[in-house]
Amino acid sequence: MAKSVYIDGSLVPADQATVSVFDHGLLYGDGVFEGIRVYGGNVFLLSEHVDRLYESAQAIRLQIPIPHQELVAAVNETVQANDIVDGYVRLVVTRGAGTLGLDIRKTSHPIVIIIADTITLYPEEIYENGMELVTASTIRNHPGALNPRIKSLNYLNNILAKIEGTDAGCVEALMLNHNGEVAECTGDNIFIIKDGLIRTPPTDSGILEGITRNSVIDLARDAGHEVQETALVRHDIYIADECFLTGTAAEVIAVVSLDGRTIGDGTPGPITRDLMARFSKLTRGLPAS
Ligand code: PMP
Repeated sequence: MAKSVYIDGSLVPADQATVSVFDHGLLYGDGVFEGIRVYGGNVFLLSEHVDRLYESAQAIRLQIPIPHQELVAAVNETVQANDIVDGYVRLVVTRGAGTLGLDIRKTSHPIVIIIADTITLYPEEIYENGMELVTASTIRNHPGALNPRIKSLNYLNNILAKIEGTDAGCVEALMLNHNGEVAECTGDNIFIIKDGLIRTPPTDSGILEGITRNSVIDLARDAGHEVQETALVRHDIYIADECFLTGTAAEVIAVVSLDGRTIGDGTPGPITRDLMARFSKLTRGLPAS
């Protein structure tokens, strides 16, 4: 449990970190957030996450009240205050307290919250043997309604799909976009490998542009693989040699079946395992701060 939480400009004991019941983050999911990993005392790709937070905020016309560098410093300060060496940071900006109406002009001011805590991971067994996926009937938000590139506090779209995954006995679920193409999973981006070529949906397939996704694309290209960002359909996954997911919490994890169809030979494939190892080296191999 976190000891102290950064809220609205200062670090306070965790049990005193509270927001108003009139906060539009609570009333309407009106706000943005980031989830970030801490490895060996270093906040991994912090600047990239903070950039994405500002972009999400910009898209919903929310003005983050402090500049980028100050936010980076506040995250590091919160991690240190909680003695987090390997853990997870949740960065949240809400619209602030308002009235029981939607008008953002009646809200007080945006509230920045930083929580540094430990992280719950998928069971080790899934990293060794890979995960099974099902396709959710809930499609990903239409980009013209709430663009999935915005990491907003309204995660109901993903939660509804996650429930379907849970009902099917899966820890993740695949989400399609409004065109029936593969978008992403409820909290992870998806990749396939076919005949040595690595493919992942582009941002205009209606996905969150994952920071882990981009990091793994770089790692794969550095390792000499060709990576293409192209639209995929479920058939591409069914007939793939390998499939894996990327995400801040999940890191890199193999997928061994989708909708009851075995992918490849039903075990984590060689390129996936190599990328898992490379990602692990990148994160664990960072010098201590
Ligand atoms: N897609 C969705 C919908 C997510 O919530 C996440 C995790 N935040 C991701 C993809 C993976 O993004 P990242 O690698 O930046 O954690």
